[in-house]
Amino acid sequence: MKFGTKAIHAGLEPDSATGAIMTPIYQTSTYIQDGIGNHKGFEYSRTGNPTRQALESNLAAIENGKYGACFGSGLAAIDCVIKMLNPGDEVISTNDLYGGSYRIFKTIFEKYGIKFHFVDMLDIENISKVVNNQTKLIWVETPTNPMMNIIDIEAVSKIAKSNDAMLAVDNTFATPYLQTPLDLGADIVMHSVTKYLGGHSDVVMGALICNDDKIADEMYRIQNSSGAVTAPMDSFLVLRGIKTLHVRLQRHCENGEKIARWLNDQPKVDKVYWPGFESHTNHDIAKRQMRGFGGMISFTLVGNQIEDAKQIVKSTHLFSLAESLGGVESLIGHPATMTHASIPKEEREKSGVVDSLIRLSVGIEDADDLIADLEKAMA
Ligand SMILES: *Cc1c(COP(=O)(O)O)cnc(C)c1O
Repeated sequence: MKFGTKAIHAGLEPDSATGAIMTPIYQTSTYIQDGIGNHKGFEYSRTGNPTRQALESNLAAIENGKYGACFGSGLAAIDCVIKMLNPGDEVISTNDLYGGSYRIFKTIFEKYGIKFHFVDMLDIENISKVVNNQTKLIWVETPTNPMMNIIDIEAVSKIAKSNDAMLAVDNTFATPYLQTPLDLGADIVMHSVTKYLGGHSDVVMGALICNDDKIADEMYRIQNSSGAVTAPMDSFLVLRGIKTLHVRLQRHCENGEKIARWLNDQPKVDKVYWPGFESHTNHDIAKRQMRGFGGMISFTLVGNQIEDAKQIVKSTHLFSLAESLGGVESLIGHPATMTHASIPKEEREKSGVVDSLIRLSVGIEDADDLIADLEKAMA
């Protein structure tokens, strides 16, 4: 089955009681048993809920995986992956990382004896320099936020395999429509479902997808034992969101390309970061491992003045000033004072987050209107 068909049908059966075509919202905490242990597959909704289970099957199918598990947020999904490790284990992660991922690694798990290395994975050699017998997990995010760097998943997976470490990929920015890390050798795919998968800025949710039976056992054991599960209503909303994922992503990509090219021609714009440009440092890898380049774009301004950037982000009308991404509506943000404000200026500038950097999550409105909005704000 191809992607669009799976997005709409995989894991979904008409309701056995009524024939309802849409998976009902099973808003229930428990399930009646005919006799002790004699139930219909569900005992308690932390452990399993039919609406959530339908979504988990659907997510597994679109990521080309066997098993899916949903969590209360993207960070709760990351929490589950790190809980598969033991004190003394080491993790190698990309240094250009979602801030919340960095925070949970450093401030929650380091004190339980897990060691984290943050390396620049644009040069794969940097992984080989720190990998050792204790390395149990490699954590990759690609494309990265907000610099849109592309990391070679297949190359990293080879290093992971030869060192008996798991490879987990945060696939939030690309979505399975554009990139399927399990096909490239990853062991676990993680999503902030909050973003493109939900797609309508109305749910906070996370997910993990994997193929390996042993990893799946651990994933479900931790999901049930730690209990950071997602609600039936939210599961329903995301099931509905995913039905249009492929159509939305087509438009996100089209609009992304039009706006990236337009920005490139603007005299006030200095650099434009979008992996679809042939001039992008990792365009070749992007072309190999992605099926499109998405709607996330960052750009800097000539002169690099923080005041110019602040003026632009507050002057757009269709691009709303907000954190988050991946919804149908366009968003604009200023990493230096928003998502990356807690990182010292020198540190963030090293990774490219300079004062005038502006990040766009290009929505699926009409591109001409979006360009007109940016044009006015820049004037
Ligand atoms: C938002 C985000 C997360 C965290 O997900 P939440 O749903 O906000 O907990 C993790 N990784 C990336 C790349 C994100 O954009």
